[in-house]
Amino acid sequence: MAMEHVDVLIAGAGLSGVGAACHLRRECPDRTFAILEARGALGGTWDLFRYPGIRSDSDMFTLGYSFRPWTDPRAIADGDAIREYIHDTAREYGIDRHVRLRHRVVSADWSGAQARWTVCAQRTDTGQTVELTCDFLFVCSGYYRYDQGYTPALPGIERFAGRVVHPQHWPQDLDWTGRQVVVIGSGATAVTLVPALAQRAAQVTMVQRSPSWVLSLPTRDAVADRLRRHLPARLAWPLARWKNVALTMLGFEFSRRTPRLAGRLLTRGVAGRLPAGYDVATHFGPRYDPWDQRLCIVPDGDLFAAISSGRARVVTDTVDTFTEHGLRLSSGTEVAADVVVTATGLNLQAVGGMALSVDGVGVNLADTVAYKGMMLSGVPNFALTLGYTNASWTLKADLVAGYVCRLLRHMDRHGYRVCTPLEPPTPQRVPIIDLTSGYVLRSVDALPKQGPKAPWRLHQNYPRDVLLMRHGRVDDEGVRFAR
Ligand SMILES: Cc1cc2nc3c(=O)[nH]c(=O)nc-3n(C[C@H](O)[C@H](O)[C@H](O)COP(=O)(O)OP(=O)(O)OC[C@H]3O[C@@H](n4cnc5c(N)ncnc54)[C@H](O)[C@@H]3O)c2cc1C
Repeated sequence: MAMEHVDVLIAGAGLSGVGAACHLRRECPDRTFAILEARGALGGTWDLFRYPGIRSDSDMFTLGYSFRPWTDPRAIADGDAIREYIHDTAREYGIDRHVRLRHRVVSADWSGAQARWTVCAQRTDTGQTVELTCDFLFVCSGYYRYDQGYTPALPGIERFAGRVVHPQHWPQDLDWTGRQVVVIGSGATAVTLVPALAQRAAQVTMVQRSPSWVLSLPTRDAVADRLRRHLPARLAWPLARWKNVALTMLGFEFSRRTPRLAGRLLTRGVAGRLPAGYDVATHFGPRYDPWDQRLCIVPDGDLFAAISSGRARVVTDTVDTFTEHGLRLSSGTEVAADVVVTATGLNLQAVGGMALSVDGVGVNLADTVAYKGMMLSGVPNFALTLGYTNASWTLKADLVAGYVCRLLRHMDRHGYRVCTPLEPPTPQRVPIIDLTSGYVLRSVDALPKQGPKAPWRLHQNYPRDVLLMRHGRVDDEGVRFAR
């Protein structure tokens, strides 16, 4: 029986996969496509993570799609609202009909002779293997493992009589009302969870080995609200978006160029929201410079309000061991706990764990060089969405999807069937993510590399990438086309 064939196969139906399909619909309406999604629902991150308080930590004007305005009054939105936005977009563009749920892509092999991919997926409900062929494989599988969050060794955990939960798999039956809750971690998830849990807990203690930079931002964006009140949506939306792109970029550049001053300003912002005499240096004074890791955003200072009210506290120390009733820290301090939340991070994973091969030869991602941050050297007719680390993910996802459409149209116009990115001419290689966060350092060696300069180097700079991806040449020195 002939195998089913589509022009473009998208792996993953999260924010990026749904966005990619919308771009195809709008910009390459003649192309056939399908989306294979491993889980039983659309939405990716925003469907998986269900911990209390789950919300964006970047503004929705830039986390929303360029082609579909975010109309909710909140600029920092909760997980439900973001999930709904993805679902509504999929419905509006007729994408939901093209999604095959519970299909995990396990391998994809490119045949040079046939100029197409054979993609093998496993149905997660029946275990059945499904094969399809496609001309172009577009991987939108996010950047981390879905089955397992990162948990470091927890000494003595077997003695602990309470419950231990990881935010990636939040148990919906958990009731922490009136309980002593410990959150281990200092990143975006920990600072989101602490104020949310503190609303019902007896007390929440955030135990962190070392602090992160934290910035309070308003939930509502006053400038965007004014723009939306006085201008039609088609003007207000891009203006609000570009205003936030500019502010985020300025903050990032300012931090990278004058880290000490940026650190002092951030510290002052935190101190101003905490009671007089609070030890800001110990609990909110990181050992790294601002933006060497992602900034943690807290909406309307909710974390600081919880600390100020006494419902939450921060302890900066390391866990020596779990005890029957909580934790003992290296300083000897005992922290009582009924529930321990390990907000200790993610396990990075590129291309959704699938095995890629070209003419039967396995692709080792670590040996490849990313071309324009989205294609891999030596891997034909393939693209991958990896969002920004210093700005909203969707800004980059939109650019990548738009670029794939340009590329497909270019190939159509010239009768090309194959597009293969090349390696840069010089041997220098740079990590693809330049953050020092634990989750990055643990896995960055296994990821594709960048070259020393464009088109193999990204600058984590949206306006520059707009020029490169929307207006730059498709047939530059980094790529070879063939008929
Ligand atoms: C808790 C949390 C909060 C975040 N907040 C922000 C934020 O505020 N701003 C921001 O810019 N970024 C944020 N991020 C990053 C976030 O992942 C992106 O915003 C965005 O959701 C990524 O979308 P995506 O579709 O690329 O990936 P995901 O949302 O991860 O979706 C990937 C999809 O691909 C599917 N998939 C994976 N492998 C396969 C496979 N082999 N076969 C088939 N399907 C597969 C998955 O099941 C999933 O549905 C956050 C991340 C987390 C974990």
